[in-house]
This record gives sequence, structure tokens and C-alpha cells, in this order.
Amino acid sequence: MKENTHDFLKAVQEELPEVTVLRREEERLIYAHGCYPREYKWLLQGPYKVLPEAILMPGSTDEVSRIMALSQEYSVGIIPFGGGSGIVGGSIAENHEVMLDIKNLKEFEINLVNCTAVGGAGLTGADFENMLNEAGYTCGQYPQSFQSAVLGGMVATRAIGTFSTKYGKMDDMVNSLEVVLPNGHVLNTHKTPKASTGPELDQLFLGSEGVYGIVTKVEMKIYPVAEKRYFEAFTFNRTEDGLEAIRQFVQNNVHPAVVRLYDEEESVPKMEKYGFEKGHVFLVIGYEGLEKQVDLEREYVHHYCALNGGVPKGPKPGYDWFHSRFSTKKMLDHDAMKGGTADAIEVAAPWDCIADVWREMRKALEPMCESVDCHFSHVYHTGASVYVIFHAQTGGDDYDGEKRYMECLDTAIRTSLKYGGNVSHHHGSGKAKAEYLPLEHGEAGIEVMQKIKDALDPKGLVNKGVLGL
Ligand SMILES: Cc1cc2nc3c(=O)[nH]c(=O)nc-3n(C[C@H](O)[C@H](O)[C@H](O)COP(=O)(O)OP(=O)(O)OC[C@H]3O[C@@H](n4cnc5c(N)ncnc54)[C@H](O)[C@@H]3O)c2cc1C
Repeated sequence: MKENTHDFLKAVQEELPEVTVLRREEERLIYAHGCYPREYKWLLQGPYKVLPEAILMPGSTDEVSRIMALSQEYSVGIIPFGGGSGIVGGSIAENHEVMLDIKNLKEFEINLVNCTAVGGAGLTGADFENMLNEAGYTCGQYPQSFQSAVLGGMVATRAIGTFSTKYGKMDDMVNSLEVVLPNGHVLNTHKTPKASTGPELDQLFLGSEGVYGIVTKVEMKIYPVAEKRYFEAFTFNRTEDGLEAIRQFVQNNVHPAVVRLYDEEESVPKMEKYGFEKGHVFLVIGYEGLEKQVDLEREYVHHYCALNGGVPKGPKPGYDWFHSRFSTKKMLDHDAMKGGTADAIEVAAPWDCIADVWREMRKALEPMCESVDCHFSHVYHTGASVYVIFHAQTGGDDYDGEKRYMECLDTAIRTSLKYGGNVSHHHGSGKAKAEYLPLEHGEAGIEVMQKIKDALDPKGLVNKGVLGL
């Protein structure tokens, strides 16, 4: 351990005796990786190369603030760590950093007049939602990693859940934030619904993956638990027909909570399971809200689906999706397989090129993979996102699996950019996708991001290398 890190940890223990400090090798190994597919391969390849020096577990904003000030004084690199479910290498301690685990920040306060609730950044999505449900409310955020991702991590990556067409993405859900800056100063963004006092500072920290500071509290918008929830399925001749139906109802301001369209290949097991038309595609729609609102939304969704050849298939397949929505077993099994690799690449594009992005990404990945599954599950007024889930098996060892992963990632992202898509819709960039960011933001965009970084963290100590900064 370097002398400055040793002195920093000593100062933390002297000044903040309540803060838990973990230093044993097995503890450091647990914090050395998240869920980035290459990290699975590194674990399988032998002794792990990049361990953090230690893990600190503060229990309050004051403690986070003091730790950050000390880290600047001793020039020690810090990486914030939430639920560890990030899949883009956003917390790799390759510069011998100290991890700052924020999971002990768990306060909860609800304001029913404003329809907001403040959660500590360490509350998991599931904990936060359960507390809201006890009061008869919801925030509508159900990512697949609901049980492990925490509020701070979801802010840092701009996460999204399956009910996004109604409730939006983290960037739409947050009302205000408390953030500890790299120098230890505490910033509270305004709680008013709108303001005209300069740029919206929440947006600077949403998606910043820790590089500009540590999120310690999150004020979320909340809603009464829905009076009615209903799921159903449709089939279409082609992916393009399903996309057109969705575009039409969303642009007419009809927002069912869940919209999931599977392409021809990903639809196959579902069509076989239910005995639906071979070669056609499968759409799940989920509605929730006031009873009459749900009924009206259903009426309009049926109208636009029928205009594009959609055939209603009843509620059962929709409810089956709902009950199995947290399962990602196939992908994780493939990552753990010798010589295998898998990932879900999620990109967004405007409506006028989303079908090209989907088609070309699928075409480019197929020769390198055993299977490619594609679906569209987050849709907006001006465009949509597509998940391209690849499973590859090289037949070789875990170095071959890692190499294939890098080839697939590179191919997927470059193809998305070429046809009008972006680098990432909601998983973030971490270190995995950092090199592609200049292709999306341009030189001037990266210059702005770097200058903000230099001003807030002149020594470059907080999550160095993430977002390419
Ligand atoms: C099985 C599985 C399913 C998933 N499903 C979804 C999904 O449906 N939707 C979705 O959006 N994502 C999904 N993800 C990705 C992941 O869950 C999200 O990116 C999530 O938001 C990460 O939250 P976390 O608390 O685990 O953060 P971590 O993995 O701990 O951290 C992620 C990044 O944020 C930084 N960070 C963490 N906490 C803070 C903080 N308090 N302040 C500042 N920076 C911080 C970290 O340094 C890191 O760069 C899935 C992942 C897995 C493994």
C-alpha cells in the first residue's frame, strides 16, 4: 500500500471511528468487480489483478463529506460503490483506489403533499419501493436489477425500469439530489418543480457515474399505487409493423406503462409456447393507472395495433412476462461458461432510423455469436431504444471469451453509431464504452465534460478513467 493511502486510512479511522473500514483480501476481492462481462472473465482467468486498497462504509452525508475532503488532502483515489450491479466497468480499482460503499445511507422520508420521497443513496430499488408501497405509493422504477441496484447507482447511470413508458427514466423521476463534491462540499439542488436560474444541476450528476461527486440522497417523484393494472399481448407480421403501431400511439400521447416488442428471432420461443403464428412477432403491453384511464389507453392501443395488422392475444402471455420479468439467468450462465460471453447492448435512436439500427446491429453480430435476441422496451415521442442481447461461445478458454466479448462490443457500438443510434441508452459508459464517447459527443462535448471535471476534481481522484475523464 502506498504511504499516502496508509496515512489517509489512518486519518479516517482517527477522525471518523464510526466508519467501517474493510481491508481483508477476500473483502477487497468482493468489491473488486461489478457485473461487467469482462470482470467475469478476469475472475475465471486466475488471481484477480485489480483489488481496491480498502473499502470505507460511511453512515451519513457528514462522514462522506469528511472522507472526500481527506481524500483530497492525501491525494487518494476514490471510487463510489452502490449495489455493484453496473455492467460497464464503472468501478474498477486499476489505480489502487479506495472504494466508498454508500449502502449504509438509508434514510427515508415521504411528503404526500408534494408527492415526493427522499431516499438515502444506499437504499435498493426494492427497499425504496416497498417503503413507498406501505404508504400506498410507488415511484414506478423497476429495473431488472431492482433487488440489488441502489438509488445512488441508478442516478449515477441514468437507469431505467420496465414501466418506463409511463414513469420515464431516472432523469425524469428525480426531483432533487444531495451530492458531496470531490472537495467534500455538500450540494443540495433545488426542490422546486421547475426553475429559471441557470442550468439544471441535477442533470449534471445524473449519468455522471461518480466522476463529479458522490450522490448521498435522492428525492424522487411518487404516485398513488395504481387503481388498475392490466397486461395483454399482440402479434404482428413483422417487427416493422409492431414498431409503427407503437410510434403511432406514443406520438398521440397514449402511454401504457410497459411496451415490449420482440423481433422475429426473440419471438420464436414465445410464439412456440403459446402456439401463435410462426415467423410473426410478439408485443407485450402493460397498463396501469386510474381504471377509466387504463380502459381508454387499451382502446387506443388496440386501435393503433389493428391499423398495423396487430392481432390481440389476450392477457395470459402479458401476465406470464410480468411474473418472470426479473430473470436474466441465460445471459449470466453464458458469461460464466468457459470460452463463452454474453451481454445486453442497449442503444437508442430516433424513430426514422431505429429499425435500421436494430437490423444492422443484428446482422453485424450474428456471424460472431451463437444467438442474438433483440427487443424494444423503452419508447418515447421522438424515438426508441433497442436491446441487442448476444450469446457467444468460442470453444476456447476464458481469454478467448474475453477477446470475443471485446469484438462483439466494438461491432455493436460502431454499427449503432453508423446507422444513427447512440453508444448507450441506460447502462452508462464506465470504462467499457469510454473510448466511444467522443464519437457521440464530439470534441467540443468532451471538452465541456473534461473542463467540469478539472474544475470539480483538479487532481482527478474520483473514479478516474470513467467516461474517459
Ligand atoms: C442482471 C442485471 C439486470 C440489469 N437490469 C437493468 C435494467 O433493467 N435497467 C437498467 O438501467 N440497468 C440494469 N442493469 C445495470 C445496473 O443494474 C444499473 O446500471 C444500475 O443503475 C447500477 O446501480 P448500482 O447501485 O448497482 O451501481 P454500481 O454498479 O455500484 O455503480 C455503477 C456506477 O455508478 C457509480 N456510483 C455508484 N453509486 C454512486 C453514488 N452514490 N454516487 C455517484 N456515483 C455512484 C459507480 O462508481 C459506478 O461507476 C442490470 C444489471 C444486471 C447485472
